[in-house]
Amino acid sequence: MAGHDSSKVFYVDNFKALETLYKNITQVLCNITKQVCEKQQADLVFLLDQSGSINQEDYTIMKKFTTDLVNSFKVSEELVRVGLAQFSSEFQDEFDLNKFYSQEAVNKHILSMTQRGGGTKIGLALDSIRGYFEASRGSRRSAGISQNLVLITDGESQDDVEDAADSLRALGIEVFAIGIGNVHDLELLQITGTPENLFTVNDFGSLDKIKQKVVETICKSEVEDDGPIRDCSIDIAMGFDITRRTAGGILVSGHTKLQSFLPEIARYVSSVQGLCCTGTAPVKTNIAYRLVAENGVTRDDFNFEGYSEEVLRKVMTLNLAEPTYFNTAMLKSFGQKFNTQSRASVK
Ligand SMILES: [Mg+2]
Repeated sequence: MAGHDSSKVFYVDNFKALETLYKNITQVLCNITKQVCEKQQADLVFLLDQSGSINQEDYTIMKKFTTDLVNSFKVSEELVRVGLAQFSSEFQDEFDLNKFYSQEAVNKHILSMTQRGGGTKIGLALDSIRGYFEASRGSRRSAGISQNLVLITDGESQDDVEDAADSLRALGIEVFAIGIGNVHDLELLQITGTPENLFTVNDFGSLDKIKQKVVETICKSEVEDDGPIRDCSIDIAMGFDITRRTAGGILVSGHTKLQSFLPEIARYVSSVQGLCCTGTAPVKTNIAYRLVAENGVTRDDFNFEGYSEEVLRKVMTLNLAEPTYFNTAMLKSFGQKFNTQSRASVK
C-alpha cells in the first residue's frame, strides 16, 4: 500500500477525472518495475579515467553519468554494493564495496571527487582494481554474487591492458568499458573480452544516450549468471470505495464514468510490457479484484490473472447490497490478499 509515500496516492474530484489519472498511475508503476528488474544482488565497481585529456566540464559530466548509473540500481548492503577508483598515470582509491551502503552516500562521494590529471595507464589501473574484488574489501564473489567492473575512459592507454584484463575476467568478473571520443576500439575490446560489454560514444554529452543500454547489459549478465531468467512480474489488486450509494444495484450503477473507464484503466495497467522494464524478461502483469464489506469481510474475490474482459464484466456487474469503504479493514484485507495470493516481485 502507499504507506507514507504521497507520490503513490492519487486524488480526483470526480469520476470524470479518472480519464487522465490512469496515465499518471502507469508512470509510477513504470518506475517501480524498473527497480524490480534491477534489484538482483551485484557488486559493481567503477574505474574512472581522470587523466588530463579530459577537460573539467567533461569530467563533471562523467561523474554525473556515473551517479545516474548508480541510481539505476538498488544500492544496499544486501542488494547492489558499489565501489569506485580513479586513475590516470597512477591509481587512486576512492571507496571499497563495503564503504557506503546507500545511493545518497555513494553519490555524495562521487560528486565531491576532483580531477588529478596526468597520463592514461589503463593496464596499471586494471591491475590495481583487482583488490576491490576481495572479500575483505566487501566483495561477495565467494558467495557467488555477480561481480562487475565498469571502466569509463576517453582514450588510448599508455601501457598494455590485455594481461590485467584477462586476469580480472579469469576471476569471473564481468568487465564493461565505456569509451568516449576517439577511443582505441580494439584495446577496449581486449579489456571487455566481448563486444556486448563495450559502449562507445562520440562525446561526453552523448553518455546519456547509452545509459539505459549499459544498465540493461549489466542486468542481463547477472541474469545469465543466475541460470533461469527471473520473473519480472507485477500483481495489481483493485478495490472499490463506493460509499455514497443507495442500497442494492450492481457495482457500477450510478457511476457511469467508472463504468466506462474501469475497463480502460484495467487494460492500460495490464499492458505496460516492454515500456519500462530494464531487465531481459518481459513484464507480466496480473490484475485481481476484491470487494470488501465495511467490517473487512470479503464479499467477492477474484484472484490474480492476466487482463480479462470477461472477469472485469463480472466484477462490474456484481451485486452490491451495501456501501464499501476505504478503511483499515479494507487495507488489511488487501494485505492478506497479497500475502496469500500474489507471487509477483511488485505488488
Ligand atoms: Mg587520457
